[in-house]
Amino acid sequence: MLNYDKQADWSNGFGEHQSPISIRTDSVKCLKAPLDYHVLNDYRLHQEIDDGTTVRLTGEGTADIFGRQFNFVQVHFHAPSEHVINGKHSPLEIHLVHQNAIGQLVVVALLVSLGEKQNPQLQQIIDHFNQAKTTTIDLNIRDWAPWYPVGAHYLGSLTTPPLTEGVEWLVISNPEFTVTKAQVDWFQTHFGEDNRATQPVNGRTVELYK
Ligand SMILES: [Zn+2]
Repeated sequence: MLNYDKQADWSNGFGEHQSPISIRTDSVKCLKAPLDYHVLNDYRLHQEIDDGTTVRLTGEGTADIFGRQFNFVQVHFHAPSEHVINGKHSPLEIHLVHQNAIGQLVVVALLVSLGEKQNPQLQQIIDHFNQAKTTTIDLNIRDWAPWYPVGAHYLGSLTTPPLTEGVEWLVISNPEFTVTKAQVDWFQTHFGEDNRATQPVNGRTVELYK
């Protein structure tokens, strides 16, 4: 099981282009367009896994991401967020992990805010959770992708060991749903704070789409 209190000890043979990062919206290249991310086939979740660090759900679906087709592979959660925008964490960051035919990885990260309304699919995931078990589930999360996604695009890494680099990130700052404090508290009660600290940008290009 990963220990987030000892993350400085995670072995990292890569080093220079790591994730997550802290993004200052006034000091990155800005493009007046949405992120080029379109869900082609709805994301459906089939299995719910307690991996000890978070809840991970595997499933299927397809998306067009900057003109290339990717398969949706799995979704998992970090509370609070791993990416930081203008010095602020979001209470929850959802990672939609995609892979293409030649093994390239794209993570679409949703920075979710607190609100009065709980997200119903997230609540189903919470209600369905079975400690230390893998269970089957059938859940459509089509609504999680915003129709006009804005946010950052950059090259980084996995945020858990082996911290592999060459992972493309779309960090979306405008999901069209909120989560309640009770939902975020549920994650932190079960898993503690499971966010990796932000890593140096080291001269990488970070593009902001808005
Ligand atoms: Zn993650």
